[in-house]
Amino acid sequence: MSIGKKVLVIDDDELVLKTLGALLKKQGYDYRLADQGEVALQYAKEIEFDIIFADIRMPKMNGVDAINFIQEQRKKDNKKDLPVIFITGYAEDSIHLKAEKFGEIIQKPFDLDRLMITMREYL
Ligand SMILES: [Mg+2]
Repeated sequence: MSIGKKVLVIDDDELVLKTLGALLKKQGYDYRLADQGEVALQYAKEIEFDIIFADIRMPKMNGVDAINFIQEQRKKDNKKDLPVIFITGYAEDSIHLKAEKFGEIIQKPFDLDRLMITMREYL
């Protein structure tokens, strides 16, 4: 069920935000789009999300650091970790090893249907 599920999307690529935003809207999800880690941290403070999509490479705070911060904050608040799906344009990257500790990694360009199926497995 998509109704009422809250999704946070973090990506510095405006096209990814637009594409995922349109899809999530169409499918009835409640979602927020963050174009940088700092914005995502603020949203995560205000809203109890059900899942997060995060880009790995971003100009300021990278996606892994942003997720690490969010999950640490949740731990302090006695909340369980949120499911995370990373999306990345880089096939092999040392930062992936760190990302794998927090969630699944999906490569760009991604198939939208597959992405939604993967997401629903976590909800
Ligand atoms: Mg990026």
